[in-house]
Amino acid sequence: MIEVVSRPKKRLFLALILVSLLVTCISTYGIWMVSFPGLANISQYLPLVIGTILLFSIIAIASGIVGIIFAILGFPTLGFFQGPAWSAINLLFPLAIRIGKLCDLDQERIERSFIEVSNHLIRRKSVKVSPEKLLILTPHCIQRETCPYKITRNVDNCKVCGNCQVGEILLLSRRLGFHFAVVTGGTLARKVIKTLRPHAVLAIACERDLTSGIQDVYPLPVIGVLNERPYGPCCNTRVDMQAVERAIREFLSEKK
Ligand code: SF4
Repeated sequence: MIEVVSRPKKRLFLALILVSLLVTCISTYGIWMVSFPGLANISQYLPLVIGTILLFSIIAIASGIVGIIFAILGFPTLGFFQGPAWSAINLLFPLAIRIGKLCDLDQERIERSFIEVSNHLIRRKSVKVSPEKLLILTPHCIQRETCPYKITRNVDNCKVCGNCQVGEILLLSRRLGFHFAVVTGGTLARKVIKTLRPHAVLAIACERDLTSGIQDVYPLPVIGVLNERPYGPCCNTRVDMQAVERAIREFLSEKK
């Protein structure tokens, strides 16, 4: 089974996150109104205090989303927006997925759109790191299924036989000097990040793993490159090496 991946559009994620914000505003207002009499029974000031806290929370989330939209449209945005922007994404993303499902939208399509938005925001920051502070993470399924070598403990066990792209990335890492790890899942990925303490990550994975990984490791800058699945999910996956090299060179400082 060959999976055809359509080109992701940033506006899909942005539209869903805006609808999620609207739903959150309406439900927060509804909950506040319903609890108003009970709160007023405890203290006459309590509805106002709680209402003010909720209002400022909504304003912070909305300012984050406005920051994302301005950044996508190419307007200069203040670094101040970064924190609220990612808090807004982390908070509203599950709701955005649910709303997308209600509208019969494919979850992977929404996740691809999110990855595009996230990559765009990271690229705008023009993060530059030295090779030893850059980590490339790929999932285990990029290794040839029949390969007998254990590369998740040590990628140098790869014999660069040419049967999968692990060898290609390994040679590139030796040439340019960045770290390269093949991981079996999110737990191992987090462990590698904790051990190596990179300043930037290039992650190659499927939509679901990239989406959760990018959100998990924030504020670490991550560029996500989607894998290709010519044999279906989790089996002999591949990646566009040109996209990988482009992302690596974007991260590495100019002189490298
Ligand atoms: S390139 Fe490395 S990991 Fe891939 S099949 Fe060959 S030895 Fe195994």
